Amino acid sequence: MRRSESLRILLVEDDEDDFVLTRSMLQVPGDGWFQLEWEQSYLPALQAIREARHDLYLVDYRLGDRTGLDLVRDAWDTEPPAPVIVLTGQDDYEVDVQASELGVTDYLVKGTIDAPSLERTIRYAVRHHQVMVDLRRSEERYAVAVQATNDGIWDWDLVEESMHFSDRWKALLGYGDAFASDRADAWFDLVHPDDVARLRREINQHLSGTSPQFENEHRIRHADGGWRWVLTRGLTTRDGDGRPRRITGSLSDITDRRVAQERLIHDALHDSLTGLPNRALFLDRLTQCLRHLERDPSYACGLLYVDIDRFKLVNDSLSHSAGDRLLIEIARRVGAILRPGDTLARLGGDEFAILLDGAIAPADALDVAARVASTIAQPLRFDRRELSVSASIGIAHNLDGCVSPEELIRNADIAMYDAKARGGGRCEVFDASMHQRVVDRVSLETRLRHAIEQQRLRTFFQPIIDLRSGALHGLEALARWPAGDEDEVPAGEFIEVAEESGLIGPLGVLILRNACETLSDWRQRGVVAPEVTVSVNVSIRQITDGGLVDHVRAALHDHELPPANLVLEITESTLIENPELVSAVLDELLTLGVAIQLDDFGTGYSSLTVLHDFPGDTLKIDRSFVATMIERPESQAIIRSIIGLAHNLGLRVIAEGIEHPEQRAALTALRCEYGQGYHFARPLPREEFEDLLATCESPA
Ligand code: C2E
Ligand code: MG
Ligand code: MG
Repeated sequence: MRRSESLRILLVEDDEDDFVLTRSMLQVPGDGWFQLEWEQSYLPALQAIREARHDLYLVDYRLGDRTGLDLVRDAWDTEPPAPVIVLTGQDDYEVDVQASELGVTDYLVKGTIDAPSLERTIRYAVRHHQVMVDLRRSEERYAVAVQATNDGIWDWDLVEESMHFSDRWKALLGYGDAFASDRADAWFDLVHPDDVARLRREINQHLSGTSPQFENEHRIRHADGGWRWVLTRGLTTRDGDGRPRRITGSLSDITDRRVAQERLIHDALHDSLTGLPNRALFLDRLTQCLRHLERDPSYACGLLYVDIDRFKLVNDSLSHSAGDRLLIEIARRVGAILRPGDTLARLGGDEFAILLDGAIAPADALDVAARVASTIAQPLRFDRRELSVSASIGIAHNLDGCVSPEELIRNADIAMYDAKARGGGRCEVFDASMHQRVVDRVSLETRLRHAIEQQRLRTFFQPIIDLRSGALHGLEALARWPAGDEDEVPAGEFIEVAEESGLIGPLGVLILRNACETLSDWRQRGVVAPEVTVSVNVSIRQITDGGLVDHVRAALHDHELPPANLVLEITESTLIENPELVSAVLDELLTLGVAIQLDDFGTGYSSLTVLHDFPGDTLKIDRSFVATMIERPESQAIIRSIIGLAHNLGLRVIAEGIEHPEQRAALTALRCEYGQGYHFARPLPREEFEDLLATCESPA
């Protein structure tokens, strides 16, 4: 019993003698143990009780025409908040039962009690009441906690072999009262067939004592017929011998979390535009496929590398969303013709890869490639336009003896590159010579980079002649990579490498500055007439990479060359590849005062359309027409109409590649203004060109 404070007791007793008796008994344990208050009649007693100042109530059963039980009933709607002990004159079983139902703690018969037994009864009553209060609180807390976690609760009695599922458990799975079973099997029956064995195993491990508690994520059938992901946790209660008696646990719905997790994993391995596997997943599948190959050498797999031809043109000329739709449509079409075991992936941009898994012969891979090409080539409707694209496909096969996934992809990529180089719209099967070509190309790029860095590239000049007067009209600056430690590489070859590698930027600046410097020097020394121009070739990359206008301005300024003496040559494809950007840059250049010339005219596929919007003043007829104009009347007819068209549009014409006097004569007759070619002079180094100018007043 608490000794720190005395126990406040309210005695409700209408008999004064009994009060005296009880008071004397309560004095026996000693002073300060009990603090007794006495109420003699019903209503004041009720009043005192309602003030709730007491730790215990001693209530006489007989209270005039009422009873102690009436008092308990009137005082509290629910269980008394403090222990109540009823005192009665004679033992009455009925009263005893009623009292206990009302939450009375004890029932004592007067005359049978003495001081020690009363003290003991009070002590037990207080203790008992405290335990009950604690229990109720803990139960309430537990109930609140369970509600707050939203978990369902289950309790499996292993001895009775029965299982209890809480209402929340049933509600979580959508069953409600419809789920009436008390068997554990009813639960397992709902668990996903792929998950049930693991769930049972983990429960058994826990029961056998190997795991301190069990926790398992699994799918379970919801009443709506779908699957839900749930987390089930449980803990075993054991008897004195450590044998499991019951296992109790919770169930929480983790579907949202699992779905989010799966989404994350999916997103990490798939391309967001087409939903296809991405490079990472593709590599994984390919790795598995090659592992299979290690175990079973008869197994084979093929790899197709697919790249859409001129995809950039679609993107730039239509719109990016049109480009996206095209890619989605291609993914759909190609996916539809593949077998279920094959993997179609988007590796990035307009590049797709297909893994043909299983015993596939090289000829079969070619077959698939042909079908892929033809499905891609089917026209596609965009709003009101129709669009046709083609693809370049490279094929590689594990039979080529490669071991790593990266190598196999690289081989297919090389073969695709070869298909592109041959004009696109075709399939090529990888072979070792292709690889050699790529290696050569890479080495060429490295050597070119060094040549540019060490300023070993030179500028040659070729005259452009006024066909009527034979006077020097201008000169074209042409890049040369002179024979030194290696053979001279033709310009056509290294310019292409420079364009692809980005080296065209520094290379172009080098030639531009040499050209401006040379002409400026000749003008100042009177080597050439003041109106003679120098033409410099410009690639699309130099325009799109930015900085061209600044480089031109700086070169003119640094070498004191008037802008009108500089001509920039661009090709037709430059005009169509990125029309908006190109025309903006050309406008800036024209504003600077330099001239623009259209090179290699007639070789592009949209020449006439392009000509209409061309902002420059001169076009150069490609030398392929000039080369055949004497033998083939068609060539001459083409040249005639090009010249006619150009003149109609106010453009002047330069004929390239004039090698023979007949060609020169024929072109002059067709009223072509200027000519260039070996007939006049080959491209020459600056000094030789100067010597040539000195020896003959007019090179014609
Ligand atoms: P292009 O601009 O059409 O240059 C004319 C090409 O025709 C030059 O080839 C020239 O040597 C060649 N040629 C001139 N007259 C005749 C002839 O009578 N018969 C034959 N068969 N060929 C003749 P080259 O110097 O090999 O240049 C090839 C192409 O490389 C150039 O064609 C041009 O597109 C590009 N290129 C050359 N230098 C540069 C440069 O500095 N920058 C850029 N971006 N491209 C350049
Ligand atoms: Mg040119
Ligand atoms: Mg040309």
